[in-house]
Amino acid sequence: MTRLWNEPADFADEMIDGFVAANGRYVRRVPGGVVRSTVSPAGQVAVVVGGGSGHYPAFGGLVGPGLAHGAAMGNLFASPSTQQVYAVAKAADNGGGVFFSYGNYAGDVLNFDAAQERLRADGIACETVTVTDDIVSARADEKHKRRGIAGDLTVFRIAGAAAAAGADLAEVTRLARHANERTRSFGVAFTGCTLPGAEQALFTVPEGRMAIGLGIHGEPGIDETGIPTADGLAQLLVEKLLAEVPEGVTVEGARVVPILNGLGSLKYEEMFVVYRRIAQLLQDARLELVDPHVGEYCTSFDMAGTSLTLFWLDEELAELWEAPVDTPSYRRGSVAPQERTDASTAAATVADVIEPGDESSRSVARTVLAAVRTIAETVDAHVDELGRIDAIAGDGDHGIGMQRGSHAALRAATTAVDAGAGARTTLARAADAWSDKAGGTSGALWGVILNAVARGLGDEGRPDSAAIAAGVAAGSRGVTDYGKAEVGDKTLVDALVPFSSALTHAVDAGASLTDAWRTAADAATRAATATADLLPRMGRARTHGQNSVGTPDPGAISLALIVTAIGETLAAETLAAENQKENAHG
Ligand code: ADP
Ligand code: MG
Repeated sequence: MTRLWNEPADFADEMIDGFVAANGRYVRRVPGGVVRSTVSPAGQVAVVVGGGSGHYPAFGGLVGPGLAHGAAMGNLFASPSTQQVYAVAKAADNGGGVFFSYGNYAGDVLNFDAAQERLRADGIACETVTVTDDIVSARADEKHKRRGIAGDLTVFRIAGAAAAAGADLAEVTRLARHANERTRSFGVAFTGCTLPGAEQALFTVPEGRMAIGLGIHGEPGIDETGIPTADGLAQLLVEKLLAEVPEGVTVEGARVVPILNGLGSLKYEEMFVVYRRIAQLLQDARLELVDPHVGEYCTSFDMAGTSLTLFWLDEELAELWEAPVDTPSYRRGSVAPQERTDASTAAATVADVIEPGDESSRSVARTVLAAVRTIAETVDAHVDELGRIDAIAGDGDHGIGMQRGSHAALRAATTAVDAGAGARTTLARAADAWSDKAGGTSGALWGVILNAVARGLGDEGRPDSAAIAAGVAAGSRGVTDYGKAEVGDKTLVDALVPFSSALTHAVDAGASLTDAWRTAADAATRAATATADLLPRMGRARTHGQNSVGTPDPGAISLALIVTAIGETLAAETLAAENQKENAHG
């Protein structure tokens, strides 16, 4: 149970403010998270970690000499947005490239990958190793699908130690991947957790029971039993991990770092009782125990539970493990005093600079702003209706989610246009603000769509109709890549795909952008209406599928309403431009 908060929506932000206020000797705040407040040598690879908030000390608590250079910190249990990851990485970069590492969750992968692409386009070399230590989350032959839990620490530490020792980006990546190959975890939970302001726990474990393999965001476990004794739990954890020893490791005589991690509200004393038996069992198996850890390294808000991680050392990993670390939550060995970054230069590197677009792109940016305003107004006009149809099979938040997203987008686009941004920057800012603030599946997807269209617009010159249609097509592909829904699954894909193909088709046939857009919007409207007959196969609505037959998909409907309204805005803008030309001639 979480007891203290102000405005629940501000919780993560205020938590970061307080964390930074208390740890200024290690970290400073940047848009999207924190970076070190100490000087790193020029050319040192920057290790950037991150994920949702609610897992302290992961991720901000692990920033400091010997470990991470920066942490992108999302909302509670929500991935940081692409823009947040990008901003943190930019601020953390020392000219030696950026090494990303984080738990392997879909939202994180999407946003970190998109940020990585953007950094590469800026000429900053990037590599990524996602942590996949949780052996419950997928079979051993599908290790790439496993999620990351407390094993984050070993991979981050090896990367941080390698970077501190002067390894280049390729070498840091190799070592981190190697560390991940040799890290395995297994966890149990006794309670769920309750986010600030929530009336109910996000997930629950029945009283007196223990969930085996429950994820750190409540992903279902594999089994449930009565709560064992402390020794019984130690036995279970050790057995599971010794049943899956990394390739090339002989158990007898192997050196392991055991990490017994508390998930948020398990007492240290309880963990020590469990660890006592774990140590005995590992020694009985003839393992050599190195630097055991018992404590909280990756929590799950106030969940009561624990996980055991075994990190199987070899020569090179053992040597890196000895490197000193000094961070807000984690210290090992002794780190020499560090020089602090100069606050004024630090501020300059994180200032939110908007590169101005050229004259004609700035004029396109004004049309983009008008279109974003149209989106927000359209959503406002239909907010109740969208909520109502989402409530039939979903959770009823589609209207308010779209409202939060589109209004954040409008504010961001307005700021960008006022700062002289070109069309691409204006729409990209709007897209990021949308996915940042909207929440829900549709928020992330609208971020993907608008970012793709933004790339089609550019910051120089006037894009032609083909470039815009190509941007929409890229957005459509992005949505199916990310959300994995196909046409017929009863999602917004059902409206987006016909919209995109009709637009491309009409533009290729020589129609003006306005005419092509209107034709495509009609196709989207017909397709959205037709989703009423379908059974949902994706998203939240899937579980209550039958209820929704006879009602169209809310995401498809909002998309059709939006593209229709944008068609009107384009027509009005074209008319205004023509009148202006005529006036100039006459
Ligand atoms: P949430 O489902 O997270 O509450 P919203 O209510 O804002 O988010 O949006 C719901 C809409 O999201 C659905 O009507 C559907 O159109 C869309 N959606 C859900 N899952 C997917 C997916 N995998 N791919 C594409 N669209 C999806
Ligand atoms: Mg919803």
